[in-house]
Amino acid sequence: MEDGKTSDQGHSSGVVRPMVLIVITLSLMAVLLMSTWVSPAGVRLFLSAVSDEGLGRAGSSATVPDTRDRLLGGLLSPDFDDDSCLSRYRASLYRRPSLHVLSPHLVSRLRRYESLHRRCGPGTSAYSRAVARLRDSMDEHAPAPGPASSNSTSEADPAAECSYIVWTPQAGLGNRIISTAAAFLYALLTDRVLLVQHPGHDLDDIFCEPFPGSSTWVLPEKDFPIRSMERFNTRTPESLGNALRRGEGSRDPPAPWMYLHLQNNYQPNDRRFFCDDGQDAVRGVRWLVLRSDNYFVPGLFLVPRYERELDRLFPRRDAVFHHLGRYLFHPSNTVWAMVARYHTSYLAPAEERVGLQVRDFKFTPISADERYSQIIWCAYGQGILPSVDNNATSAAAGAPDHHQEPTTATKRKAVLVVSLRGDYYEKLSSMYYEHGAAGGGAVSVFQPTHLGAQHSEERHHNQKAFAEMVLLSFSDVVITSAASTFGYVSQGLAGLRPWVLMTPVDGKGPEPPCRLAPTIEPCFHNAPHYDCKTRARADSGNLVRHVRHCEDYPNGVQLVD
Ligand code: GDP
Repeated sequence: MEDGKTSDQGHSSGVVRPMVLIVITLSLMAVLLMSTWVSPAGVRLFLSAVSDEGLGRAGSSATVPDTRDRLLGGLLSPDFDDDSCLSRYRASLYRRPSLHVLSPHLVSRLRRYESLHRRCGPGTSAYSRAVARLRDSMDEHAPAPGPASSNSTSEADPAAECSYIVWTPQAGLGNRIISTAAAFLYALLTDRVLLVQHPGHDLDDIFCEPFPGSSTWVLPEKDFPIRSMERFNTRTPESLGNALRRGEGSRDPPAPWMYLHLQNNYQPNDRRFFCDDGQDAVRGVRWLVLRSDNYFVPGLFLVPRYERELDRLFPRRDAVFHHLGRYLFHPSNTVWAMVARYHTSYLAPAEERVGLQVRDFKFTPISADERYSQIIWCAYGQGILPSVDNNATSAAAGAPDHHQEPTTATKRKAVLVVSLRGDYYEKLSSMYYEHGAAGGGAVSVFQPTHLGAQHSEERHHNQKAFAEMVLLSFSDVVITSAASTFGYVSQGLAGLRPWVLMTPVDGKGPEPPCRLAPTIEPCFHNAPHYDCKTRARADSGNLVRHVRHCEDYPNGVQLVD
């Protein structure tokens, strides 16, 4: 309703005024009443009077996504066909309700991004023009321009021209997911279109399309003129780092494309991506190609020019991946079928679901026995799992009494073990099978797969990995492994601070064996540690208030509130 159109417009009779006042008063009362309960969309509205400091910063109103609301408070677009992606509007029904504030500004920026993607994504004329212009600029011997050539764009409205960031895959699925989320946030901040490269088809049929409309987020590789992106590295001449090293910061005209190397082995000049001069250098570049295995979101919080916008998008800094992850990563129907089947068969009957993700890294070796001791030490110590009753051998022991209200001790718990190895599941399930839980609770233990080794180049392998990340995100309590991006994805989708099994020291679980993470945010493992002013090494965990060293990986940094 436009204010201007509903004003008196000259009808100043004494009858109309009181009527208008009554209508306005009644409307205000109705709005106030609704805001204390539930809006028609099922979204709980919180007024700024609510004392939580995060909510207070969110402005006049902010929403906590409600699982009963299929659009999660406006996080998801309503413009999708339900059947094309069964998980999109259903996954949240399997999870604990989110307690994390969603800012109206993020919601509006997502809708704006969706329009941009509709206008500029693959299949649109704007996309064809942008690719043709790129090809022409790369090919000195380009044939005479055709209808979709760069010359044809010279008369186009420059504001209507599109800019892109092309994400390319690196490392395991967890790394891929968190770096895609970071690339998307960068796209939001800079009005770029995010495209993902899926070479080798190992990422096909894992995720649904995240953006509504007939376009796609997958880069059509056949006609894309930048080739061999999988071989790009610190020596690639078109990299931002090399351009800055050559003194070619902000060029006029800008380079047609540039490569961003934000991988674990990046060099000081590559790290200037997180500085103002790095951002100046890429600003007018229409095509950016990114290779990153990292969640570089905390690095964006170090760039002064993005501070205000990030503050509006994420009044609570500790829920960035939680919101972006639930917006972007919806399991494909194939993956969702596995998830829903498994959950219904094994996990749904329990009164409490405990997720246990055990990732063993080669660089911190530990025997299965020692690791198991660490898990048990953590789970008993934090009251996550009941200890066993070593004296209980009778048939009655460990059998829950269904006539009694369950207490914390007697709740039926389902433990979902997720690991490449089968040992931990074997030991845990044997323990509760042979002895039963002390206090009479029932504990059932399940493990969907134990694949032995990582095979990120295989689609079926990745589908199972993603199914397990999603299943873990349905947990009420979650134990993850330090430094594992697999765990980060699960805790982020769940919106839970996990208990983190700390990195083994000298082949043993350290003291304490696990810690409650200070944030649900993933860790940016390879933080820039670079001072933009002095161009010398600096501690990224000490520069701004909300970026701190990670507890599970101290050289990295993460967002805390
Ligand atoms: P990270 O190495 O723990 O940071 O996690 P990533 O997901 O990036 O890479 C590990 C990869 O190994 C996963 O993507 C899977 O392919 C595989 N993997 C590791 N742990 C598990 C597990 O518990 N279940 C399954 N299905 N795959 C796993």
